[in-house]
Amino acid sequence: MTKKYDVVVIGSGPAGYVAAIRCAQLGMKTACVEKWHNDKNEPVYGGTCLNVGCIPSKALLDSSHKYAEAQKDFEVHGISLQKLSIDVPAMIERKAKIVGQLTGGVKQLFSANKIDGIQGTGKLLSGNKVEVTAEDGKKSELEGEHVILASGSVPIEIPPTPTDGETIVDSTGALEFQSVPKRLGVIGAGVIGLELGSVWARLGSEVTVLEAMDEFLPAVDKQIAKESEKILRKQGLDIRLGAKVTGSKVSKGKNKTVKVTYEDKDGDQEMTFDKLIVAVGRRPVTEGLLSDDSGVELDDRGFIKVDDTCATKVKNVWAAGDVVRGPMLAHKGMEEGVMVADRIAGKKTQVNYDLVPFVIYTHPEIAWVGKTEQELKEEGVEFNIGTFPFAVNGRALAANDKDGMVKMVVDAKSDRILGCHIVGPSAADLVQQVAIAMEFSSSAEDLGLTMFSHPTLSEAVHEAALAANGHAIHAVNRKKR
Ligand code: FAD
Ligand code: AMP
Repeated sequence: MTKKYDVVVIGSGPAGYVAAIRCAQLGMKTACVEKWHNDKNEPVYGGTCLNVGCIPSKALLDSSHKYAEAQKDFEVHGISLQKLSIDVPAMIERKAKIVGQLTGGVKQLFSANKIDGIQGTGKLLSGNKVEVTAEDGKKSELEGEHVILASGSVPIEIPPTPTDGETIVDSTGALEFQSVPKRLGVIGAGVIGLELGSVWARLGSEVTVLEAMDEFLPAVDKQIAKESEKILRKQGLDIRLGAKVTGSKVSKGKNKTVKVTYEDKDGDQEMTFDKLIVAVGRRPVTEGLLSDDSGVELDDRGFIKVDDTCATKVKNVWAAGDVVRGPMLAHKGMEEGVMVADRIAGKKTQVNYDLVPFVIYTHPEIAWVGKTEQELKEEGVEFNIGTFPFAVNGRALAANDKDGMVKMVVDAKSDRILGCHIVGPSAADLVQQVAIAMEFSSSAEDLGLTMFSHPTLSEAVHEAALAANGHAIHAVNRKKR
């Protein structure tokens, strides 16, 4: 028998679970199909983000940051510790508890919103039907007036370094090490590679990051990328740019190691590691998701084709999150989930793709929103720049957390803020303030006229906005007015 719903969502990551909750809030009878399960074959909600992505990585980043602070930074505050040690399994266990709490939270929200969570692998058939294959192979069928595809993404594997879950791992494996590897290799200096490399470097690993491209963080504002690279190198990350990994060989025996070969400008190179993390990006998940006659199309990179409202070409079939174009970020997927639910309910909600905030949770954090200086140059837009270093921000000095800077780019004619780029303490939260201002079309002057609490890290944002017009108080202005 086919069970009928107003909306069937496939996938319960940030895009899927948010879409399901919003649909239910708007009065629609909603089901969410999720293949991830526990040992009782119950669905585990939250997708990559809650289970093996944003949350567990931040749990380990926070734990390892505390350890690194205790080891390196306490002394300057006059605090000395007699004996400092880490219990890696306890750290990993703490992370697992947080994951359990949050995935359980989604389960409770589903139940409170009367959403039917269904364990199994969903496949879109023609006519908005969804075939569900449970873990035990049993098949059932659902029908949705609307179907939302939110199947997410998985790590990309590359032929030179096949993962074995033990010595060569992907991001998921790197969240489960039970001891600190002495020599850790990371392939890919992207967001995930830098975050996971930082975790283990702080705990004592000698970390080498091999990155095929010659430029460090090419998507980031050049000045901020340069500053970030300097800070991360100072922390001990051995970042090798222009290093393309070509092969690997795992040793036999008990204490396995992996020999990695790579090419750089000087020719063939070789390094041996105790563990290797492959962090070369993620790909959309569509295998087994669509029947041949579903009508849903993929683009040439394997993403489900959608328009700006996340509608596919098929009537009442939508797709959101990592499985569609755009940055693979949880918050981007969540906003799309809300938009799709609202649109199903007849509202005209839109996602402002121009204002997606980006964060790399190293320490200090690297975060940005809007246009970079180089993008504006390419577009021929005239702009002013305001910068402010944390080295002269009172709160950053009080906390002994003074690396980095805020950079604001504003339209030279209208004074409208076009972008904000930060490397520094709490950069993620600081950039968010500017994202809000930009959402309301704020000028640098508007931000400059806003009163900021003293002493706060936010004052660096205030001063950068003032500096864009030569009005910074606590720094010498590049531009005089
Ligand atoms: P996913 O979270 O991948 O969820 C998709 C779900 O669909 C999964 O649960 C999957 O089991 C299920 N599914 C797939 N196919 C089917 C099917 N046929 N039937 C049933 N179920 C199916 N993003 C940030 O914004 N901030 C961060 O700090 C951040 N850190 C990250 C750290 C790491 C280590 C990683 C790996 C990722 C990180 N991300 C971060 C990215 C973020 O996790 C993803 O962008 C986000 O999870 C995408 O959400 P989604 O709902 O599109 O897909
Ligand atoms: P991201 O897509 O941000 O997760 O970053 C992944 C990074 O991995 C990119 O910067 C790629 O250039 C890098 N990368 C991909 N393949 C290789 C390889 N074979 N060797 C070294 N780096 C690689």
